[in-house]
Amino acid sequence: MEKPQQGDCHLLTSRVKYIFVTGGVVSSLGKGLTSAAIGTLLECRGQHIAILKLDPYLNVDPGTMNPFQHGEVYVTDDGAETDLDLGHYYRFTHTPLSRASNATSGQIYDTVIKKERRGDYLGKTVQVIPHVTDEIKAKILAVSRQDPKTQVVIVEIGGTVGDIESLPFLEAIRQFRYERPKDCINIHLTYVPYLKAAGEVKTKPTQHSVQVLREIGIMPDIILCRCENALSDELKAKISLFCSVPVDAVIDEKDVATSIYEVPLDLHRQGLDAKICKMLELDAKKADLSEWEKMLQVILHPKATITVGIVGKYMEHQDAYKSVFEALHHAAIAAGVHLKIRKFESDRIVENGDVEKAIGGCDGYLVPGGFGERGWEGKVLTAKYCREKKIPYFGLCLGMQVMIVEFARHVLHLNDSHSTEVNPNTTDPVISMLSEQRGIKELGGTMRLGSYPCALKPNTLAYNCYGKGLIHERHRHRYEFNNTYKDAFEKAGMVFSGTMEDGLLCEISEIAGHPWMLGVQFHPEFKSKPLEPHPLFRDFIQTLVKA
Ligand code: GLN
Repeated sequence: MEKPQQGDCHLLTSRVKYIFVTGGVVSSLGKGLTSAAIGTLLECRGQHIAILKLDPYLNVDPGTMNPFQHGEVYVTDDGAETDLDLGHYYRFTHTPLSRASNATSGQIYDTVIKKERRGDYLGKTVQVIPHVTDEIKAKILAVSRQDPKTQVVIVEIGGTVGDIESLPFLEAIRQFRYERPKDCINIHLTYVPYLKAAGEVKTKPTQHSVQVLREIGIMPDIILCRCENALSDELKAKISLFCSVPVDAVIDEKDVATSIYEVPLDLHRQGLDAKICKMLELDAKKADLSEWEKMLQVILHPKATITVGIVGKYMEHQDAYKSVFEALHHAAIAAGVHLKIRKFESDRIVENGDVEKAIGGCDGYLVPGGFGERGWEGKVLTAKYCREKKIPYFGLCLGMQVMIVEFARHVLHLNDSHSTEVNPNTTDPVISMLSEQRGIKELGGTMRLGSYPCALKPNTLAYNCYGKGLIHERHRHRYEFNNTYKDAFEKAGMVFSGTMEDGLLCEISEIAGHPWMLGVQFHPEFKSKPLEPHPLFRDFIQTLVKA
């Protein structure tokens, strides 16, 4: 065998295999979900995997993007603001997730330009090939080296083949494979539409999209066809012939009837994991999907239905609160019930004037995170309604801040109290920036991002949910509870059951004597998995089932 030379990175890491997932025809096919499901299947065969998302847009990260444009911003333990597909990876697999797990064109160009300014390229002309493509390849290698146990790296390329933006990424994976011919496969996820008027399923868009891939020098090894219903053998044979992919490597990924957690099982039934293992010569064991099968049975046979009302600001965008929806579903699965989510735009509650009429009828309510003024007062009304009527309420980040402001206004009678995010001149800034609380102006404006420890007070709802005294949760916010008001709140029945270890920051608040009214300054939804539901979501849903 050839001896690895220093700097000869592909030989040093040659035991790692790579799966590149590209998308064709249209966007929103569920590439993230598919990449995650491939991860599930490989893990069920005993493989250690890692997943990387490459995003072709020029923003450095999605942190500043409007949720209407981009959906949820998923936060990792190390405080990176990333694409929501990382949430799928977390829920479906045990991949390590960090800043290294998501790279955008913006980030890559930023690195290249900084290097150029520093003179790192020694006067050479800096070009997309090789400088940008080298940087992309370096990102892929960095993920493969994050954990020495990693055996397979799944790389999802955002966007659709044929887009101008994704060309450097596709060129980079072409080169990457050229350098490691035995260690890579390409999976192309495409759309096979059913044309109602013609009564036919059409393969032409797939043929064209594979043609575009081939022009770039990439041959797909497996074609996954997103479709409404399973494809006939005849259609698979047609795609196989036109796209030069063996017929058993043309696999359909049809719309799932009940739950996205069916996807890995469906792909396994068609032999996707066996095919991947064979192509990459993985030393994999037989797939054990028993836990997933069991979970699906629970989903298919719920013993009751519960309804949760979510009161937010971006309710029309189905991905804006992705992790919140999923975390609620995980808890419902654990409780063996079907979850119905009712979505309420908080603005409309104020317009309506009658809270009961606007949102009444749910078993419990959840107010998720958010930024800015719009929708605030509708959320405050929701918290008041739940507190007074003793209906379960779960506040996430802004949802906790709202719960604090409501309590200040209506229990402590601090009528003007607010968060300084919305009213900087409020006489009672019960939610404010730590820097403001200390009278330091110039330190404000930076978000608290990523995982922080939180100590829990024994004999509280929060402690009972977690069953332990120290937890770690992820944050994404600027404003905090203002400790100057702590005594007054506690005397009136608010319990601060979770605090940052030094006791300075209040992370969890709950209302004594209420069946379930709890707010958290962090985002527990980022740490829930279908097979490991988050303890707070689990208890919230369990309470609704019992009620
Ligand atoms: N806007 C609030 C803050 O910055 C809450 C943020 C959130 O809900 N993620 O503190």
